[in-house]
Amino acid sequence: MRERILKVLKETDGYISGEKISSMLGISRAAVWKHIKALREEGYEILSVTNKGYRLSAEPENISVDRIKDALDTKRIGRNIVYMSRLDSTNEEAKRRADMSDGTLFIAERQESGKGRLGRQWESPRGGGIWMSLLLKPDMPLGSVSEITLAAGLAVCRAVGCGAMIKWPNDIVVGSRKICGILTEMSAEPDTGSINYVVCGMGVNVNIKSFPEELLVKATSLFIETGEKHDRDMIAARILNEFEPVYELLCRKGFGAIREEYARMCITLDKEVRVIYRKNETTGRAVGIDENGALLVDAKEGRISVSSGEVSVRGMYGYV
Ligand code: ADP
Repeated sequence: MRERILKVLKETDGYISGEKISSMLGISRAAVWKHIKALREEGYEILSVTNKGYRLSAEPENISVDRIKDALDTKRIGRNIVYMSRLDSTNEEAKRRADMSDGTLFIAERQESGKGRLGRQWESPRGGGIWMSLLLKPDMPLGSVSEITLAAGLAVCRAVGCGAMIKWPNDIVVGSRKICGILTEMSAEPDTGSINYVVCGMGVNVNIKSFPEELLVKATSLFIETGEKHDRDMIAARILNEFEPVYELLCRKGFGAIREEYARMCITLDKEVRVIYRKNETTGRAVGIDENGALLVDAKEGRISVSSGEVSVRGMYGYV
């Protein structure tokens, strides 16, 4: 029915009343209203004026799976794409469909419960960003899975440009504000420790024009940085194209093989940081990243090696 209403709106020059739509399609006016509301949620701009009715004024610029695929030069990553208009979170969808093939990409226009780490929320408005997750089936030790987050960070950084840097371990920032967050989750056999699958979620703020009050100081988007809209399909493809070789290198040789480039792109290094782990907190200077991707911090208690897991790192004077 939604499609039929859309067709009527598209074929009408100017406004058409709710009453007319309801009699044309044989549904109640309340039902018409419900479908109009749903279409708006999908990104259609539909004007409504009392006594005149409805008019379609703009169609959504949706992600195109075909355009992403055409721009890919990967072997496995993103060769299979599951696209959804909206869902709870692309990580959750990937986990539900973990029987799909290695490298499958899940991408959505909008996430209703986008996730950050430690149960935090990730703001994912319709059409505003690239909300995507890769399903991976790597052959690597369990302890190395967190390095996939670092590899993905490097790929996003290369792909978005704009002077983006990595805030260790899982955020990409421009200046002092976050433009992308990465959340890696996995499933493994408790007895053998063999990996069933890994889901690597990336949320990139592309065309978001403004953020809710509480995020203003720590979030930014490509639109905010450049004053222009960007092509989400092309950026998504670029990220996947950058990710595949970095990920392959990581699987074959370990984090050591990408460490130098990661360190060059890492804004956390040579900064005074606060390391927050559950209820504990310490401060020190971030001095390096080791062969396993852990952050080395010269703290008052001596040099500590902070592995990514459930740790948050903050700048001494702000988020970065
Ligand atoms: P943190 O960066 O605070 O350590 P996470 O990496 O888990 O935590 O990211 C989740 C946090 O990111 C949220 O608590 C919120 O402050 C912020 N956030 C939520 N949505 C967005 C977004 N679209 N862009 C940038 N930051 C966001």
